[in-house]
Amino acid sequence: MSSNGFLDTPELLAFRAQVEAFLAAHWKPVKGPERAAHERAFRLLATEHGYLYRNVPKVYGGSEQPADILKAQIIQQVFNRARAPMEVPGVGYGMLVPTLLGCGEEWQKLQFVPPTLSGEIRWAQGYSEPNSGSDLASIRTKARLEGDEWIIDGQKIWSSGADKAHYLFMLARTEPEASKHAGISYLLVDLRQPGVTIRPLRQINGSEEFSEIFFDGARTPANWIVGQRGEGWKVSKTTLSAERAGFIGAAEGSVTLHRKLVELAERCQYNGRPAIEEPRIRDRLIVLEGMVSAHYHNMQRQFAQRLAGQDAGSVALMNKLIVTRIAAEVADIARDVLGDDFMLSPFGREAEAGPEKWLNQYLGSLGIAIAGGTSNIQRNVIAERGLGLPRDPAMAS
Ligand SMILES: Cc1cc2nc3c(=O)[nH]c(=O)nc-3n(C[C@H](O)[C@H](O)[C@H](O)COP(=O)(O)OP(=O)(O)OC[C@H]3O[C@@H](n4cnc5c(N)ncnc54)[C@H](O)[C@@H]3O)c2cc1C
Repeated sequence: MSSNGFLDTPELLAFRAQVEAFLAAHWKPVKGPERAAHERAFRLLATEHGYLYRNVPKVYGGSEQPADILKAQIIQQVFNRARAPMEVPGVGYGMLVPTLLGCGEEWQKLQFVPPTLSGEIRWAQGYSEPNSGSDLASIRTKARLEGDEWIIDGQKIWSSGADKAHYLFMLARTEPEASKHAGISYLLVDLRQPGVTIRPLRQINGSEEFSEIFFDGARTPANWIVGQRGEGWKVSKTTLSAERAGFIGAAEGSVTLHRKLVELAERCQYNGRPAIEEPRIRDRLIVLEGMVSAHYHNMQRQFAQRLAGQDAGSVALMNKLIVTRIAAEVADIARDVLGDDFMLSPFGREAEAGPEKWLNQYLGSLGIAIAGGTSNIQRNVIAERGLGLPRDPAMAS
């Protein structure tokens, strides 16, 4: 599925050759303590050549290239194949940077975007609270302005990577008198201060990827607010659409996952022959291939709508749902292929070193259906805003 006709024009083939030549000249993997510095230097060079951070202006550390979905796809394919690092992963570039570029003040962009792109500073997202996930506008964490600082009290939960992050972008209730949605502001907070306690949560797969965060008189400067007071709900929409758009990158991931699953079915025995030869498994793999192909092309539809300046909202939500289904289906087929060995495959951190990550894939697929908005919520939004169906009566009151 790497070649789909669109990418085979003479101009794009020449571009692909240029990216391949760049990697051949400048990228080789390094292990051990020098790896981080090596990758940082490579990212800088790749940005100077216009391959990374293409949507970010040069003044903030990006390469400021014209939007071109086909070239972006080629870069992703060639970099993935060479196992070369792309943009720094995480919510900093994925979510905060688009929000600052869209809604931030000039000094905020200059201060926060460049070190986020270089990986010097890491961010976490503080939206969810113990009783506010899907109904995010019901958050209760408060921030009040005292002199030139916000004082924050309350609790966040499920904050991915918070224990390793330097800063948090968060939603807090700043206008207690205002209506639910109008009383929220979008604040940036330094996590390394006495008023903040971070407690990692142990997950079903044994790792600790997200944390609870407790705020007890935590402080942040008055001007570390993105957008105006009480406009945090509107600002957060930018962040959420960036999060859901992030799932489109997962189309390449789905293709890779499918390929690895086929390889697994070729290697494993099932009823005395390679699993790939078992009709039941073959059928499921073929249906999955159809889903992956649909996802791949729907992703291009989303890119194309964005480029044409159209609202890609519903298509982006559909893509998130497709990613979720593919992740679950891959895990289910792997479980079928591996049989009892599925439960013996490496688990949690151990799996990072091992060749089989199928049990982790299964457990992780449960989380994808929740992260960034649950599948139920996505379906409701597609139905109501995308298709114009009446509101869910249970939610209308
Ligand atoms: C892997 C992972 C990473 C995450 N990372 C972060 C992060 O970094 N920062 C952060 O702030 N949060 C994060 N979250 C939290 C995530 O955003 C919330 O878990 C999610 O929004 C759901 O909220 P909830 O857990 O409170 O569930 P609830 O909202 O209580 O939902 C429970 C169930 O009820 C259903 N439901 C609720 N309301 C409706 C409705 N109106 N109609 C139909 N069904 C409904 C849901 O679909 C779900 O099945 C992460 C979650 C996961 C799994």
